[in-house]
Amino acid sequence: MTETASTFHAKSTIKSADLDHRFKVNFNISKYNNTVPLGKLQFADVDLARERAKNIKWRAIETLDQQLEDFETNFSKRGGKVIWAENAEQALQEILNICKAKNCSSVVKSKSMVTEEIHLNSFLEENGIESVETDLGEYIQQLDGEPPYHIVTPAMHKSKEDVAKLFYEKLHTAPNLSPRELTLVAREKLRDKYLAAQVGITGANFIISDVGGIAVTENEGNARLSAAFPKTHIVIAGIEKIIPSMTDLAIFWPLLATYGTGQKLTVYNTLLSGPKQPGEPDGPTEMYVILLDNGRTNILDNPVSRESLYCIRCGACLNACPIYKNIGGHAYGTTYSGPIGSVITPHLSGLKQYKHLSDASSLCGNCTEVCAVKINLHELLLENRYEAAEEGLVSTAEKFAWKLWRKASLSRKMMNRGNKKIKNWMVNKAFKGWTAHRAPLDFAEKTFNQQWIEKHTK
Ligand code: SF4
Repeated sequence: MTETASTFHAKSTIKSADLDHRFKVNFNISKYNNTVPLGKLQFADVDLARERAKNIKWRAIETLDQQLEDFETNFSKRGGKVIWAENAEQALQEILNICKAKNCSSVVKSKSMVTEEIHLNSFLEENGIESVETDLGEYIQQLDGEPPYHIVTPAMHKSKEDVAKLFYEKLHTAPNLSPRELTLVAREKLRDKYLAAQVGITGANFIISDVGGIAVTENEGNARLSAAFPKTHIVIAGIEKIIPSMTDLAIFWPLLATYGTGQKLTVYNTLLSGPKQPGEPDGPTEMYVILLDNGRTNILDNPVSRESLYCIRCGACLNACPIYKNIGGHAYGTTYSGPIGSVITPHLSGLKQYKHLSDASSLCGNCTEVCAVKINLHELLLENRYEAAEEGLVSTAEKFAWKLWRKASLSRKMMNRGNKKIKNWMVNKAFKGWTAHRAPLDFAEKTFNQQWIEKHTK
């Protein structure tokens, strides 16, 4: 077992027994579950909307090279600069180069999973640049020294009392502030940061090819401030965020809002298509878009797993997953958690280190049921298992156990051999991992075949 796998098992074992954690997560997910049906009411046919969105992403990903080049051409026409980064190191270096050229000592950041993926905050801090998270959930997590817990709601595992305690300890506020008061504290602290920062960094929910722009969707207005106040705006986005046309937002914005938080539309939806133009009063004087690969073309290379690049990061599959709900976001030890994280992380960060995530699933298919763009997530988890087996990344004991199981289940003679006691002993000994966390398997007195014969010969 790899170190990442044993860490995952250890953390999962602790978390799944933590009832306080389970209560908080289930409480927050239940609020989400109550709101999503209301958001869905805006669609005449929500399944058709999901199907259409999937088709648009299919087209975008099948023509990814052309779409990205079109984006670059169109974005450059309005003075924007596009940087292509093959991996995290290149992206970080490019960001640092821009920051150094601007004599930057502080940046403001809006919520972005890609910046988590490349560990931007710690990199900037190591280079003497303060990096401030401006999304409230991210701000809470940064204050607590923790990575986001969920791709949409970063502090989902914290109760309002936890946040009040954190602010009291870190910001020396009065204890037991209400959520409204806590928000006002964060707001006051952050205002000065926007004014002081030389560079603003955001992600992109969508990269739009035909108009050469990016779309950012958020509820707090902090991404707008991060993009508009500093003189330089850097966008960093995974190449899979591409959509062919601005008109596609008519379907993606409501879908993302409903499946992300149950809203009809997220509060602030912004299109940015370059730096400030002559005669415009606001906005940055320079704007960069960094298009990040960092393993995404590995996914593109596999015609089956490619579908995972359609993901719009709504987080619905996390909220629906029985594993996520029990072990939580941090146990995964990855930037992207839950079903989508288990599908893409082995391709982004190494199959050998992360293949165990494909086993962290009951294969119930709930993730596939709720996916905003109908990605066959549970089948992709099976595909990862298949790839791991093909690449010889399974233990000899596991190979032997499955060989034995296959042989036995294909042979009527073997299935009928032995009594219940012997079978129970054999199977429960062979699958030790099973009995460590579950009741032992208990065979019936008679095999199906024996029962069938008895029934039909009476
Ligand atoms: S895989 Fe589907 S449900 Fe999960 S985050 Fe992506 S779009 Fe949402």
